[in-house]
Order: sequence, then structure tokens, then C-alpha cells
Amino acid sequence: MAPIVPPLSGRKRRIAVMTSGGDSPGMNGAIRAVIRMAIEVGCESYAVLEGYEGLVQGGDLIKRMDWEDVRGWQSEGGTLIGTARCLAFYERAGRLKGAKNMILNGIDALIICGGDGSLTGADKFRTEWPSLIGELVKTGELTQEQIDPFKQLNIVGLVGSIDNDMSGTDATIGCFSALANICEMIDKVEATAASHSRAFVVEVMGRHCGWLALMAGVATGADFVFIPEKPRSENWRDEMCKVIARHREIGKRKTIVIVAEGAHDMQGNKISSEMLRELLADKKGLALDTRITVLGHVQRGGTACAYDRYLATLQGVEAVRAVLDATPDTPTPFIAINENKITRKPLVQAVLDTQAVAKAIENQDFERAMSLRDTEFSDFHQAYLTTTTADLDDARRLPDKKRMRIGIIHVGAPAGGVNAATRAAVAYCLTRGHTPIAIHNGFAGFARHHDDKPLGAVREFDWLEVDGWASKGGSEIGMNRELPGDSGMELIASLFSKYKFDGLFIIGGFEGFHALSQLREAREKYSSLCIPMTLLPATISNNVPGTEYSLGSDTCLNELVAYCDKIKQSASASRRRVFVIETQGGRSGYVATLAGLAVGAVAVYTPEEGINIQMLAADITHLKEVFQQDSGQSRAGRLILVNEKASTVYTAKLIADMIKVEANGRFESRDSIPGHVQQGGVPSPMDRTRAVRLAIKCIEHLESYEDRGDGAILSDSHSATVIGIKGAQVVFSPMKEVEEIETDWKNRRPLNEFWTPLKEVVDVLSGRPKDIPRP
Ligand code: ATP
Repeated sequence: MAPIVPPLSGRKRRIAVMTSGGDSPGMNGAIRAVIRMAIEVGCESYAVLEGYEGLVQGGDLIKRMDWEDVRGWQSEGGTLIGTARCLAFYERAGRLKGAKNMILNGIDALIICGGDGSLTGADKFRTEWPSLIGELVKTGELTQEQIDPFKQLNIVGLVGSIDNDMSGTDATIGCFSALANICEMIDKVEATAASHSRAFVVEVMGRHCGWLALMAGVATGADFVFIPEKPRSENWRDEMCKVIARHREIGKRKTIVIVAEGAHDMQGNKISSEMLRELLADKKGLALDTRITVLGHVQRGGTACAYDRYLATLQGVEAVRAVLDATPDTPTPFIAINENKITRKPLVQAVLDTQAVAKAIENQDFERAMSLRDTEFSDFHQAYLTTTTADLDDARRLPDKKRMRIGIIHVGAPAGGVNAATRAAVAYCLTRGHTPIAIHNGFAGFARHHDDKPLGAVREFDWLEVDGWASKGGSEIGMNRELPGDSGMELIASLFSKYKFDGLFIIGGFEGFHALSQLREAREKYSSLCIPMTLLPATISNNVPGTEYSLGSDTCLNELVAYCDKIKQSASASRRRVFVIETQGGRSGYVATLAGLAVGAVAVYTPEEGINIQMLAADITHLKEVFQQDSGQSRAGRLILVNEKASTVYTAKLIADMIKVEANGRFESRDSIPGHVQQGGVPSPMDRTRAVRLAIKCIEHLESYEDRGDGAILSDSHSATVIGIKGAQVVFSPMKEVEEIETDWKNRRPLNEFWTPLKEVVDVLSGRPKDIPRP
């Protein structure tokens, strides 16, 4: 892998960063990363204040930035360098002024964080650049000597927008924070809806893009969703009323309809919240007591969630690297993320594709609008349809002989999204005519209680009960760490036979992985185990081989980041305090490292690296220097994150005590252990929505094995798999392969952890000295 901090070749650059268009949570993290990374690679950092207005006006609005200027910025919402809509920049005259100001300030690279409008403007600016500087010489505003060093302008785009409306990237900086705000509000509205048996129409942002509405619908299990890209049928009124009447009929006491502000029917007529309210309240129809909640600007507000912080940070770092790599022939890039992979993509194409979606919607070519959105979007749309019309859609039901009995079991410790995954799996099973069967309390429950409580331990799922699980934390069917081998494989195999399972869906962490490994091996011996089985990883530790993401890990990071923010803030009175925070994560440093990236920890200690006395001594020396140089401007404390298993000797408390004694009164130190808070209460929207999407894929996968003989199952390596996000893809990996090639069994984690290089980013951006001795 290329080094995170590339050597500077060629001349020292002046790199400016700007935020433009609507603000979005996470923009500050991107600014901090760009500024510090630019300094780290030997360049000078600038900020252009107030968006393009700053470029056009110049003067004090173009500001030199230092390392310390951006300290603690990840924890602040909005953008601290200001943003604006700038009419002047739409005109060539405005862009001419912008070009002149850039040259006068010696800036030859611009990193712009904004929505598609801002990035369109950026691309136009770069395309015009040669003619702009030519004109500046011709009109005598600048001399040839002045423009000579600035023949090339480098521009890199970072997509900062809550709408997630840019083509080519799965997420924009800020969209998951906005989604979290929306889901939090809907969760609150649901309580009152259920209490009064009411309906609520919730209006969310999204003029041309239904991502927020759709994802909120998936995450909260809303009854009906309206998005601009895919209007419902001509008969949308009947369709909605039918679905909601059915939900009420099976006993639901609450109704939630989510409408994007840009929603419309097939003819392009706006569908307003008021229209929906009237329809739901119609005395001749559903006659529901219906209220409207328009969420408005609260959707933008607040600090960024963990994902937006590390996305912004990693993309900011990548943007600086892209500036350094640029040649005169490189097309202007923007930094994207696909699943879990950060990439550079041509900006022009993405802008064109984004505009094409808006155009297709305008022309009522909705097939095209959907096709221009990413595959993830249509996956979610399908997932949403499946989970809201679980037992209504006869067209998708399989013929009797293709229907399966699918056991669903949770193995390990609770993690956010486990219930949402179960709900989605059950919904999909019902849609297809399969029988989803709950196995309570993991393999321990399965083995011990089947005789005395046959209906308690193993039973068919009931849709009304499961439908309320979309946003529930914990595990509603109970989970347990015990492995099937602990109870005796013979007993487990006999139970598989007794309950006539045709497929098994395991949701769980490393124990789930281990359990599946045991079952897979035992298939040679027991015919009842010769069925397709798949694991959906779910653990806050994110240590399951075969995936880079486990359900629950996002919820955990959010909890940890919120905890760290509060702890840091608590030091604002004394200013001079170091907190040593112990994180969970088993023998994987993922949680500590990613949280460290999101909160700007001065050091992260992981089990992979370990801790020794030289490293501690060097970090303490570094801290002494930092506090000595501290101007006193900064208002909050500093953080060290230490994984619970990073060392058997150097615990958080011991490290904090060592720092205290060495600081000798110059600064303070405390340890702090958030413990089980990290499992989270309400799961994050990312965990909930990914749970739905991945769970449906898992049952589809099991379904593809219907009616195969034992021999065929045994010889097909994909009949026992783990689903995972690997790089830019969602993949099913054969268990045997993952067990043998990708698993560090001793340390219960993947052999090659994808996030290892991110530790260096934490160190670089916190200014930790490079020569810290490593164990
Ligand atoms: P949001 O996601 O909040 O809509 P945005 O970046 O799309 O963000 P816009 O208001 O479209 O927001 O654009 C922000 C600014 O970018 C504009 O005020 C203008 O200064 C500049 N800009 C946008 N489009 C162009 C363009 N076609 N040519 C030149 N400048 C543009």
C-alpha cells in the first residue's frame, strides 16, 4: 500500500479548502483533515471563508491556517469556515475575480466540500482557468510573470451534503448524521402515535433525491414512503390505503408515512403532506386521527455522527493526496466511497449523472432516474417494499414445493441491528411463502429447553410482533455465546431434523462464526445439517473474518464518540487534562482506532500493536511538549483510547496514573471506562438499514439452495457462507475458505484487518511523533 503521507515531490504547494452550498455535519472534520494533512506533507494550508464569496472578495476571506487552528473541529457541527450561496460565481466576472485572488495569494490547489452545485461551479472554474488567467493578463490585472507559476489549477471535490444526491458515491459527508436526526425524531413520534393509535405524516428534506426518506423508511419500518425518483403507481391513493388498512387489520396501532419534500405522482403533480393527511383522515376511508410533522432544519443540525466524522477525515486526507498526485492530464477528481472503499472518480461524470437524475425526474422517466441512482439505492427500495408489504404481495410467493423452513438464531452478544435484520429476514420469508422459525437464546436455548418448552424455544415468527423490531436494540429472541459443540453436535443435529429446517440464518459475532464453522464441519456426519447456512456478522467489535463491517459496530462507534465528546468537554474548565478511555472490541483494535479517528485522539493503543514502556514514555514526553506549547486557546481535554485487551498490564487506570505522576502537576490525567454503554441503546440508522439489506440478501441466498440433495450441498462451498462488505462489494464468502485463509483463530479476528493503515492516519492527524517506539 502507498504510504499515507507521500513524500513531497516538486515545489511546495499552497492548498486551500472551502465549504460551499448548504452546510452538512462532518464538514469540519474534512477541513481539519485537509489542513493538517497539507501541513504534514510539507505544503501550506489556507481556508477560503464563506464559500465562493470568499474567493470572489479575497482579502481577509482567504486565510492562512495552522495546525492548532483546527483543533477539536470534528466535534463541531456545521462548518466553522462559513458557507454561502454566491451569485457572483455563476458569472464569468465573479470567477475572474476568484482566479485573481487565488494567484495573489499564491494558491494553486483548491479542495471544495459542497453539494453538486458547488462542485459544478468548481469544475467550470477549472475548465475555464487557462482563459481566465489569460484574460487577467490581457486586461492588465496581472502580469505574465505573476501567472506563470499558476498555469495549472488543481481542484478536488469532497461531497458534503445531507441529501446524498451525488451520483458515483454511496454516501456524502453529512447524510448519515441527517438520517440519524430524522430517525431519532420518527422514533419519538412513534411513541405518541402508538399511544393514541394515530397516523403521522413526516416530511423530510430531498427535492430531487429520496435517499433520506427511503432510508428513514427502511430504518424505522414506516408504513409508506414517497420519494421523487420512484413515484408509486397511478393508483397511489388506493395503494397506500390498502397497505395501511392491512397493517391496522393485523393490529398495528401506529401509522407512519414519510414523504420527501420533492415527492410527486407519475404526472409530476406534487404530493404534499396535507394531501396525505386528508387521505388518511378521510372519514369514508381509513378515518385515522392524523398529524403532520415537518422536520425542517433540525435535520441538518447537530454534531456529526461517527461515520460522517471518519468519512470526512479519510476523504480529506485522500483529497490532499489527490492534489499531490495530479498531473496536467488528470481529470478533476472527487472523492467517493463505495461500500467501504474510498476512491477517486472523475468529477465531471458524476456531476453529469447527478444532473441527469433531476432531468429524468422532470421528464417523468422514472425508470431512468432509478437506474442512474446507485445499485445500493434500488436494493434499499426493494428491501423497503419487501418489509412493508410482507404478507400482501401474492405475486412474489413461491409455489408450495419451493418453500423452506428457515431457522433464525442469534449467537454471541447483543449488537445494534440484530432485531432489524431478523425483522427483515422474517418479512422476506413471508413474502416468499417460507416459514421463518425463531430459535430462542442461541444454541444453549435450542439444546436445553426444547423438551419442557417446545413452543418457547423454537417457534414460528409472528409478523405483528416482529414488525415493531426495526429500531429495537438488543436481541428480542435472546442470544447466547454457547457453541453447538458445547451441547453436543448429535443433539443439535437431531433438533435440526426434528424441526425440519431447510436453511439456517445465523446473526452474530465471532461465536456465530465459530458456530457456523462447527456446523459446517459436522455436515459430513449428520444429514440433517446438510442444508444451506449463512452468517450475518453482528458484533460491536467488528472482528468477524469475511467482512469489513459487522452490524452493531456503527452504533458502538456513535456511543463511544458521544461519550468522548462529553468527557473532552468536561475538561474545558481546567483545560489541561488527558483522559485515558478504555474501549471494548475484544482482541481487535477496530473500535478504538475508528473512534480515535472520529474524535482526534492523541494516541490509540490496540491489541494488534500492544503497549510497552518505551512507547508510553515517548507518548508522555510528547504530551508534556504539547501542554507546554499549548497557547491556552483550546478549550477541551486530550484523549488516549486504549482497547480493553491492548495489554494485560498497562490498563487505562495504570496508564492514567503514570501520566499523572510524570506530569508532575503540569497537567492532570484520568481514566474512564464507558463499558457496556458501547453496545448502544437504539441502534444507529446505518446498522438498521444495512441489517435490512444484508438480511434480505442472506435469505435470498439460502433460497437459491432449495431442494438440493445432501451431496450437492456438501460439494458446494457456497452452501455455508458469511456475508460481508469487502472493499466496494457485498460478497458471500465460503466459510471453509474464510476459516482457513482469513482467520486468526487465536486472537479471534481477521488475519488481515482492513483498517490497519487507518491507525497511521490517527497518528498523523493528531501530530503524534513518527519515531514513537513500537512494541
Ligand atoms: P446543496 O447540496 O446544499 O444544494 P450545493 O453545492 O448543490 O449544495 P448550490 O446552492 O447549488 O448548493 O451551489 C452553491 C454555490 O456554488 C452557488 O451559490 C454558486 O456560488 C456555486 N455554483 C453552483 N452552481 C454553479 C455553476 N453552475 N457555475 C458556477 N458556480 C456555481
